[in-house]
Amino acid sequence: MTDRKDLLSLVRPVVRELVAYHLDRHDVPVKLDQNENAYGLPEPVRAELEQKLRHLPLHRYPTPGQPELREALSEATGWPKEGILVGNGSDELLHTLAHTLLEPGRTAVAPTPSFFVYAYTARLAGARVLEVPMTAELRYDVPALLSAIETHSPHVTYICSPNNPTGIAIGRDALEEILRTTPGVVALDEAYWEFADWTARELLDDHPNLILMRTFSKALALAGARVGYLLAAPELTREVIKVQQPYPLNRFSIEAASVVLRHRDVAREQARRIVAERDRLLGELRRVDGVEVFASRTNFFLFRTRLGAKRTFDALLAKGVLVRDLSAHPLLPEMLRVAVGTREENERFADALVEMLKSNGTSRRGE
Ligand code: PMP
Repeated sequence: MTDRKDLLSLVRPVVRELVAYHLDRHDVPVKLDQNENAYGLPEPVRAELEQKLRHLPLHRYPTPGQPELREALSEATGWPKEGILVGNGSDELLHTLAHTLLEPGRTAVAPTPSFFVYAYTARLAGARVLEVPMTAELRYDVPALLSAIETHSPHVTYICSPNNPTGIAIGRDALEEILRTTPGVVALDEAYWEFADWTARELLDDHPNLILMRTFSKALALAGARVGYLLAAPELTREVIKVQQPYPLNRFSIEAASVVLRHRDVAREQARRIVAERDRLLGELRRVDGVEVFASRTNFFLFRTRLGAKRTFDALLAKGVLVRDLSAHPLLPEMLRVAVGTREENERFADALVEMLKSNGTSRRGE
């Protein structure tokens, strides 16, 4: 029998080295820490979904291969359904992809700061991860990425565009150069594409090594349903399917995604409202002494204040506003990230910031 103290030696060393994902729980009225769509599903869409859920045959397994949703996504994206996979959030697809393409002895390239799941899942699969820092202006360092690719011939290069948490997109020419240079695939995470002014969708036709990853969690307002999808070359998709569990989505999430997809025009309209609200809020905060904000092509942005990240986080939390403190990252000194909420939530956030700075000696410019 294994002694209790030997239990941990049974765990793969690479797993023991990882730090589990953790997010402190705060029950606050203004939750702006996870880049969600604060508006939620519009009422008619919610009503249609409720109607559908009433008749779900929950005693039956979902149809293997999720053909209904993949066909609907094929229609929505103009990409063949054989090249489309759905998963339990793009988080799950990133895990599945890493276990399809990476193993000990292989390398992945990931920018930093970016979404932590790329490096996490690549390491879990046993690969070496080369993190390429963004420039001092928090843009993609394209020459450094190309040089890392040329030196290390990675099997996977991760690019997030627009990037979480910097909000900046990669340029089309730069992306094409990366796609031409790398001997591996480029996993392009477009979780926030609806808020940006271009998508790399059309590059799929000419670049078989491009994998496009998307999610229903942001503009489509379904973070709680856990639905993501990827578009890739059908021959690659057929291999990824072998690694994925047979039923990555349940009947609830398939139904929710199907209904939302039918009403995607409503979500696009919401995304436009969120972008307009983001720009209004950025404009307002630029007039506040002691606050620095960073431009973004997403539904969130980086900011910092002269009081530093910790004091700012705590002061906002005390006023019921939850943001994300990212200051532990060496390239994000004293920085925090805030999602764009509803108009009312954004005003509570802005007012809380102004009050906090006022009680510490600054005010809105011109006041
Ligand atoms: N990619 C990026 C860039 C993200 O920011 C997030 C969510 N924070 C995800 C993927 C995960 O999406 P999902 O909810 O589909 O797992």
